[in-house]
Amino acid sequence: MEEKIKQVAQWIVQAKRTVVFSGAGLSTESGIPDFRSPGGVWDRYNPEDFYFQNFLASEASREKYWQMATEMYEPMKKAQPNPAHLAIAEMERLGKLDCVITQNIDGLHLKAGNSEEKVIQLHGTAMSVSCLNCRKRYDREEIQDRIRKGVKVPYCDDCGGPLKPATISFGQSMPERETEEAYHRSSSSDLFMVIGSSLVVQPAASMPLVAKRNGARLVIINRDPTPYDHMADLVLHGQAGPIMASILEEVKKALGGLD
Ligand code: NAD
Repeated sequence: MEEKIKQVAQWIVQAKRTVVFSGAGLSTESGIPDFRSPGGVWDRYNPEDFYFQNFLASEASREKYWQMATEMYEPMKKAQPNPAHLAIAEMERLGKLDCVITQNIDGLHLKAGNSEEKVIQLHGTAMSVSCLNCRKRYDREEIQDRIRKGVKVPYCDDCGGPLKPATISFGQSMPERETEEAYHRSSSSDLFMVIGSSLVVQPAASMPLVAKRNGARLVIINRDPTPYDHMADLVLHGQAGPIMASILEEVKKALGGLD
């Protein structure tokens, strides 16, 4: 593991455009469960309850959605960035990060100190709410306050349309600008680091392929094996927090040595 950590650090130092691609596994050490691990979200909820067409279908299903969304939001709001988020934010400060493409909706990259223009939130954010009719955005807290006061399904103040957290549900189309930007950054990266993703959710999981086909080095840091491990230049199986903290330490040593 030590050799691999040194190797990744060296690649970060050499790279001109390092893209970090993060998934739910990056935030488990911050206390936010991922979807597929034991004890994860799929152990407690039925994936169908998150389908976009079900949200649209009836008031009863919207009520159920908001109940689940509220249950997931409260711990997410309190969560703090862990050493992996902090290491990625430090990469930006060191000028060693092109961007973060994240599947996460928890806002922890921003909380850790990455700037907004460096973070592409492919699946949206749970920290905002939007009207499905007129697209008006609301701060999530404002809407949760209404729910705390007894509202079961919130509706838009302006047009009366249904409000939904600004996240991308199954069956909902991907945000055009973010998706395009993510493909563009993936294809022009020279080092692509997957951190904490099972790489099974499309189209996000195709981005490491795009990067690799365009000549990037591919590094996968994940606790469990992924379907793309065989094509990676380096795979590190373990906890993202300690691994990223060690990589960053090596990067700093190497950069210090260059002064
Ligand atoms: P996933 O649940 O499919 O996979 C998570 C992967 O992370 C697993 O392969 C697991 O082995 C690995 N993992 C778990 N803890 C880890 C750790 N500490 N260090 C390293 N690896 C670890 O997650 P996904 O690939 O991101 O895709 C699922 C979807 O779930 C995404 O679309 C995302 O939007 C959504 N989601 C987001 C959050 C969040 O915002 N924090 C939480 C749950 C789900």
